[in-house]
Amino acid sequence: MSELTLNNGITVPQLGFGVFQVPPEDTQRTVEDALEAGYRHIDTAAAYRNEAGVGAAIAAAGIARQDLFITTKLRNGDQGRAQEAFQNSRKALRLDYVDLYLIHWPVPSQGLFVQAWKEMERLYENNQIRAIGVSNFLREHLDELLKSSEIVPAVNQFELHPSYQQADLAAKCRDLGIAVEAYSPLGQGADLNGNAVTAIANTHNASTAQVVLAWHLAAGNIVIPKSSQASRIRENFAASTLTLSDEEISAITALESGARLGSDPAVASFTQL
Ligand code: NDP
Repeated sequence: MSELTLNNGITVPQLGFGVFQVPPEDTQRTVEDALEAGYRHIDTAAAYRNEAGVGAAIAAAGIARQDLFITTKLRNGDQGRAQEAFQNSRKALRLDYVDLYLIHWPVPSQGLFVQAWKEMERLYENNQIRAIGVSNFLREHLDELLKSSEIVPAVNQFELHPSYQQADLAAKCRDLGIAVEAYSPLGQGADLNGNAVTAIANTHNASTAQVVLAWHLAAGNIVIPKSSQASRIRENFAASTLTLSDEEISAITALESGARLGSDPAVASFTQL
């Protein structure tokens, strides 16, 4: 599995496994399936209410801690108490440290993300987190954060898939040394049915999901597809062995439609509590 090096020198498996919308009662089994398939990078969040299931799967798997990369995120309504929220997440995950901790959304209307970041900087300095980053941060949120912080985020995790690529934001992140992490990388399944992707999949005797994931990997994105089905979990993991031609990559890049699936980070203000 290919690894990327973040701006503080630590490495992350480029292809990880996301657990948004995996029900808490199914999470242990689903993450065990992912670990069994070979994933070593798991992406959860306090707001998903399934950190305990992730922690149970990690404990049951018996994989050396240093071979795992675990991400969780600060809930919007917890931005004023990041230290306490982090400790709750770390305990739910049954971990001594978390590999990557993200501010889940900027929620500009709260005016709290810089304060939260400063708390996260302290946790990072105390070796409780190996890297800190952000999620759903647009250009203006990054600018505001960088103006008043010591540490440049290691990662920005945002919606990115063939029909919604946010190419300007990705370029800005790369210019700043911030790794691009693609969420909803399959367009929540909606980017898997078009003619272009299907034709490329047929050429390679691969699935359309594998083609889309191979496109992300070729672009240098960290990518975290979710599936609740063991066969798809394995199928998605095998995308790392698929190499696309430059023409195939261009054909997928041409699928941009500008249509966002998730909330608009400029105005999203839900608390997630
Ligand atoms: P994805 O793009 O990963 O798509 C998941 C959907 O695609 C599910 O319906 C799944 O169905 C289906 N699917 C998965 N694999 C296949 C396959 N091989 N063939 C056909 N269908 C497939 O969307 P998500 O929104 O779940 O994003 C992935 C991860 O990104 C999340 O789990 C989370 O970790 C992160 N995320 C972060 C956000 C943030 O605000 N920071 C917001 C949204 C996501 P099934 O389960 O039935 O297989």
